[in-house]
Amino acid sequence: MATRWITTLPEMNRFTAEVRSQAKSLALVPTMGALHEGHFSLVRRAKTQCDVTVVSVFVNPTQFGPMEDLARYPRSPEKDLELLRSFEVDVVFAPSSTEIYPAGFATFLDPGHITTVFEGAIRPGHFRGVATVVLKLFNIVRPDIAFFGQKDFQQVVVIRRLVEDLNLPVRIVVCPIVREADGLAKSSRNVYLNAEDRKAALLLSRSLERAEEMAQTGEGDAQKLLEEMRKTFDAEPRVQLDYAAIVNPATLEPVAQVIPGSVALVAARLGTVRLIDNLIFGPPGSPPQLRPQLALTTLPADKESSATPGPEIESLRLSIENCRDCAAVSSISLPPREFFAKYLKRDYPDLHSTRVLVIGRCAPINPAGLPYCRPEEPNRFATGLYDLLGVRNFGEFKARFALTDAARCHATVNRVDERTLEYCVKHLREELKVFPNLQSIVILGEDAYLQFQKHILSRAPANIKPLKQLLKSEGWAQETVRLPWHGQRDVRIFYCYHPTFDNNKSPSLAPYLG
Ligand code: AMP
Repeated sequence: MATRWITTLPEMNRFTAEVRSQAKSLALVPTMGALHEGHFSLVRRAKTQCDVTVVSVFVNPTQFGPMEDLARYPRSPEKDLELLRSFEVDVVFAPSSTEIYPAGFATFLDPGHITTVFEGAIRPGHFRGVATVVLKLFNIVRPDIAFFGQKDFQQVVVIRRLVEDLNLPVRIVVCPIVREADGLAKSSRNVYLNAEDRKAALLLSRSLERAEEMAQTGEGDAQKLLEEMRKTFDAEPRVQLDYAAIVNPATLEPVAQVIPGSVALVAARLGTVRLIDNLIFGPPGSPPQLRPQLALTTLPADKESSATPGPEIESLRLSIENCRDCAAVSSISLPPREFFAKYLKRDYPDLHSTRVLVIGRCAPINPAGLPYCRPEEPNRFATGLYDLLGVRNFGEFKARFALTDAARCHATVNRVDERTLEYCVKHLREELKVFPNLQSIVILGEDAYLQFQKHILSRAPANIKPLKQLLKSEGWAQETVRLPWHGQRDVRIFYCYHPTFDNNKSPSLAPYLG
């Protein structure tokens, strides 16, 4: 589909209504244009998680102070559009100022105390403008998920607060900072830097790298890290440090001890250019992609009872994506994007409510055969599965069960080899963790049985009976186990024939599954 350029509210409303009527998921990436790789990382992520992506390009006047750079903020609408086209974004929403703030506009949001520190203290009114425009964009575009960059960490905190406080039906995803090869965080404002200032600007990321190094070698005293960070700037008069701080990511209050999730914030001026940067501390070796979630799970939005997926989902998504690098893969039949968008996100908004997980091979050759992809047209596998579980259709199935493929993304043949099963178990383990209230697991067929026995329950091959022998008398078998990550709770495991691979059929498990 060609990228549409929309500038008016009525046209945007029509588009949103159309997307909603097709039950498609909608992503919003708000930007101020002058796009660079930092913005594109958000766009890429949005496209993997939603069916339709809208990128807004709007230089919001209300977030600029009277002495700030609104008039000379870099603008490159034609180039932006061309680049967004190359990403096959569905809509670029580029309203004028009067479209967003018509004559008589008078209502602003006040995001509270958090806007009076750091960027808020230096740029009074900035977050009032940000919160107001973001709420307006949410109301106009009505996204399911909105994507923001960790680069503007305080902005993320303000927006998450806004979503939580005003009960907005949107999920916020935060993407890691994209940097130049030498470490400088990408920013539309970098174009203002002359050659000397560009060099000196590296001190921001260097100071953060230094703090990270110290933290990784065990130094947890925030004051000591801050002293080191500030020292980095001492030798360079071109850079005026506005602030360096290590804070609690939820409250932005300074911390005494650094723990995983604490955030170092830094802001500095080079002549008239202001730059900001930050670092989320993580456990040694933790990838930067996981850190935004690590820091932001302390907010109430990710409480146990919440429907918002937490870092465990993020880590699952990443491991699925990393699967592309797996040496065992010659072809991937169900792209992670499809899996995540069509399966977890759509069907299990609240992962805490699932009590029974079914593990089996379910989309061996054609991913479209996965019951989640074609719920209204059950194939032989789906029908057999529903019989086994005692449900009549996908709706009933989805209300009580979740299904995962023992070798989901590698499977192009009916029987998969041992190495693939072993590799895929890492995904399975992650998946088991995202359903924290599991009471039962139903295992379908030989592959899933062997994988579960060997790699989840760590049983020695000599102690694993062939499945056929185990199921011989009853057609099914049961045992109770404890999974290390589920604490002291028992989980009942049901072993059965596979509904389509095996010649035998197990009796219905309905009486045992509650
Ligand atoms: P802006 O156009 O500066 O308002 O930025 C639009 C979005 O892109 C915001 O959510 C920013 O945090 C994000 N962003 C800007 N620069 C980067 C970067 N270097 N890495 C990741 N995200 C970024």
